[in-house]
Amino acid sequence: MTPQTQQPDPRTGAAVKAADRAHVFHSWSAQDLIDPLAVAGAEGSYFWDYEGNRYLDFASGLVFTNIGYQHPKVVAAIQEQAATMTTFAPAFAVESRSEAARLIAERTPGDLDKIFFTNGGAEAVENAVRMARLHTGRTKVLSAYRSYHGGTATAINLTGDPRRWASDTASAGVVHFWAPFLYRSPFYATTEAEESARALQHLEDTIAYEGPQSVAAIILETIPGTAGIMIPPPGYLAGVREICDRYGIVFILDEVMAGFGRTGSWFAADLFDVTPDLLTFAKGVNSGYVPLGGVAISGEIAETFAKRPFPGGLTYSGHPLACAAAVATIKAMEEEDIVGQAARLGTDILAPALADLAARHPSVGEVRGVGAFWALDLVRNRETHEPLVPYNATGEANAPMAAFGAAAKKLGLWPFINMNRTHVVPPCNITEAEAKEGLAALDTALSVADEHAVA
Ligand code: PLP
Repeated sequence: MTPQTQQPDPRTGAAVKAADRAHVFHSWSAQDLIDPLAVAGAEGSYFWDYEGNRYLDFASGLVFTNIGYQHPKVVAAIQEQAATMTTFAPAFAVESRSEAARLIAERTPGDLDKIFFTNGGAEAVENAVRMARLHTGRTKVLSAYRSYHGGTATAINLTGDPRRWASDTASAGVVHFWAPFLYRSPFYATTEAEESARALQHLEDTIAYEGPQSVAAIILETIPGTAGIMIPPPGYLAGVREICDRYGIVFILDEVMAGFGRTGSWFAADLFDVTPDLLTFAKGVNSGYVPLGGVAISGEIAETFAKRPFPGGLTYSGHPLACAAAVATIKAMEEEDIVGQAARLGTDILAPALADLAARHPSVGEVRGVGAFWALDLVRNRETHEPLVPYNATGEANAPMAAFGAAAKKLGLWPFINMNRTHVVPPCNITEAEAKEGLAALDTALSVADEHAVA
């Protein structure tokens, strides 16, 4: 599909940009050092600016447009909901909310059949942790280095990346551990089996030294997303499930990024045949068309709050417009087999094409992923795995990644970049032709990264 592009309109673009610069305070940024692109429109896998430049979005926004931009069925459902019931308070039973909860519960693993709606992922994590603490009567929560769980107080403390550091003041009750990642093994492992066994032993040791009776929950991204798309080795998640059961610890899987088709299954947990006690979601639940997130809750934890109030809530919990977008998104995903499309995108197109890029580009140290969820780990040296830029590099130290990103954008490809990695995370329903167009641009842009790598 070639999306319609509007006529270039640089004057409007300049006005949009000027008002942004004057009044919008942006996330995670030194406000004077950023230069946000003024976006005029978006459709399918593309968006475009006011200057007449079009970009293929290999980042799916922030990995949320799982069905692409402006899906007509979801846009129509939002319009219809707006015309009938734009909003309503959370204490009432409302059709779009009931239906969204039913459709989500039908797809979540095991007995995760009750849905607490939030406005996004961080709030889902906050409330999952609150439920786990109240359910167990314990306080500590264990989370992994190399993780992201959101920007609010508990969620940012659980996060295992540098975004946590500035807000680490309230991290009492949070303990970090190392999850498996064979390519950069914290355990000096050389095989997946070794990595899995050693990571599980490390987790058990951490619990033992923290005091099992003080640990309320372990939270993991089923497949860590922003931190690098590390597929857990066979047996790891089942092992964590077993440890949680042994010590009465609540197992929370964060599927804010990995859920809703991204991995070629409804939830990444399905790939590993594990059922957590709580599962957090957001992003792909309605492709980010209207803010929505939530926690899917097991029967046992739901029972804790059957007669005792859950001490948490949000004015917009289960917002009718957001829920209508979720209902339409899930139905469109079913009708168009978008989950299957993501699976086939992974096996038939991305896996072989990215392996080919790795074979030809010395800067590609490792390719890993599944479905529409892939990372290229860029390195200076394929023998030592030295990253192309140091951990959390900025300014001059980050120049190789910045140059790679600029080259991709010049070629009309909008890449997802985090530290020394570029992630290939397009909409799950990107066409084969579009994917190949993006891969060709990636191929060219990687030559820029190659200049900093040992050939
Ligand atoms: N959890 C994970 C795994 C995420 O990737 C994110 C966002 O990227 C969040 C939580 C936070 O979600 P939100 O930004 O909607 O609060």
